Amino acid sequence: MALITILSLGFCLFTTDHLGKQMEAINDIQPSLSTSATLSGLLGDRYREASRNLLSRPDRYSIDSFKANASGVPGALWWDWPGDQFGRFFSAIHVAQLNGWPGTNEFRKAIGDAILPLQQSDGHFGTDLKGNYRMIQQISGNAFALRGLVDAYEDTHEERYLIAARNLGRFLEKAFSQWDDPKEHDAYEFYGHCIDGLVHLYQQSNGDKWALELAEKIAKLAGREHHTHHSLSMYRGVIELALLKHDKALLEKAEDYLKWCRENRTVTGGLPEGMPKSDQDEGCGFADYVVTNLMMHRATGNDLYLSEAENTLVNHLLMCQFSTGGFGHRQFGQEIMGGKLWQGWGGAFGSENPGCCSIWGQWALGQYALYAIEKRKDILMVNLFPSATVKVPGMKGSIKITSDFPMQQYVCVEGIDSGGKSMKVSIRVPEGVTPKKVTIGRKLVKTDVKDGRNVIDRVWNKDDTLGLFYEYKIVLKPSSVSPDKVAVFKGPLCLGISNKATDIDKYSYVVIKDNVAYSADKEGNLGPQLEPVFHDGHLGDTMNPNRVRVLFDTK
Ligand SMILES: [Zn+2]
Repeated sequence: MALITILSLGFCLFTTDHLGKQMEAINDIQPSLSTSATLSGLLGDRYREASRNLLSRPDRYSIDSFKANASGVPGALWWDWPGDQFGRFFSAIHVAQLNGWPGTNEFRKAIGDAILPLQQSDGHFGTDLKGNYRMIQQISGNAFALRGLVDAYEDTHEERYLIAARNLGRFLEKAFSQWDDPKEHDAYEFYGHCIDGLVHLYQQSNGDKWALELAEKIAKLAGREHHTHHSLSMYRGVIELALLKHDKALLEKAEDYLKWCRENRTVTGGLPEGMPKSDQDEGCGFADYVVTNLMMHRATGNDLYLSEAENTLVNHLLMCQFSTGGFGHRQFGQEIMGGKLWQGWGGAFGSENPGCCSIWGQWALGQYALYAIEKRKDILMVNLFPSATVKVPGMKGSIKITSDFPMQQYVCVEGIDSGGKSMKVSIRVPEGVTPKKVTIGRKLVKTDVKDGRNVIDRVWNKDDTLGLFYEYKIVLKPSSVSPDKVAVFKGPLCLGISNKATDIDKYSYVVIKDNVAYSADKEGNLGPQLEPVFHDGHLGDTMNPNRVRVLFDTK
């Protein structure tokens, strides 16, 4: 008979105790991000497709289009969000460089040569604002431009990027006087997401204190803002500021926003474009949700954020990647998602949004492995399991992960070198699986799982091969938003059926037989098997995306 376990959904996992623990952690030394991470395996393939769609498409992103975007005139996709396209491209190139993507220096230089001469004398990009700094497209585009310019400076150390960023930062400082009234914060996130650029400007410039002070003033006013993507972009900055200033109150603000997201997300980790409800999702929003959770884990050490990031990545982000490699908008629903809704530019790109989501999805995918392994004090933390080769600060050589990601039933870690001394390695158990055995070389290792982790303390030789083996059951999880319906998970993977396979409105039931999940109609007639939803978008039609059922009735 089927192995079925009924679990409650993870929404209630964040108790006051957990929060207390994570807030204590803020004064600890934070682990540094990996200095490079080259993806391989399935995620490497997906990243390559997303990158090719972005960095090898002069037909879509010509140098003239960067000029049009920097000037705020027609000629680029979102030309009326000045600075947005080149800013995000600089950030995407920054991440692509850490992933070893070829040609990044040439592309960055061509964009830089084209856009820098177009900066206005008051520091902003776009047309003359005539003293009105409250237009959300203008202010938001320039905020992405700021972070991009600082990323370009970090990569090249060319003074021209730092000067441009400083001038743009001063423009955003001037604009603050039009954003400082809490009663008028109906779109605060569109301005507020310049915080991360200001924090990085302070760090990279080695002393622009005014940038940090401005970031603090902006962060103080951040709350539960409506637009999911811009809000999460704002909270990335808030988290970085919290770490820099050891400010627990700021970290609590970020946690409050993430809690709101957890309460309204789908079982696949998808978010509405506007919180708490809207008809469609947005690639930029769920891409930022993955990265914000990864950053929050780094800030707090709380593994619950890794589970959130992992769930959204393996189930929603991978499901929503179109056959082009890009991302966009699909109809949003708790029970059935996908389907055609917004299609811009006369439907030329179908439901893909190459003006923003295809850039941001690529940027997020490229960061996942950077958070896979970290040194936290004296312990090596193995957090995530995409196949990748990672350079971890504080460790000799590279560490290689080979796995069947996203299923994560088998993971092999090679190259850990503790330099002749004993060192603890703490390995997170992926979501939804049960540990079966741990091996080093051909030897079985006795280890107990505590707080969701295996900890092994020994002298590690770079030739050691650590093997992690897991098993899974089909699990039904009651939905927190529709308590009479269930989601179906196989390990970390959410299962569903798409309208390509059957009539998903009729086959709304799930039946488990011999550890296999089948769809069924009201009379109990079996339909097609449920499949991991991450397959769906990849095979789906960009012009007419599939509808996918992810919540089911049970008898
Ligand atoms: Zn977008």
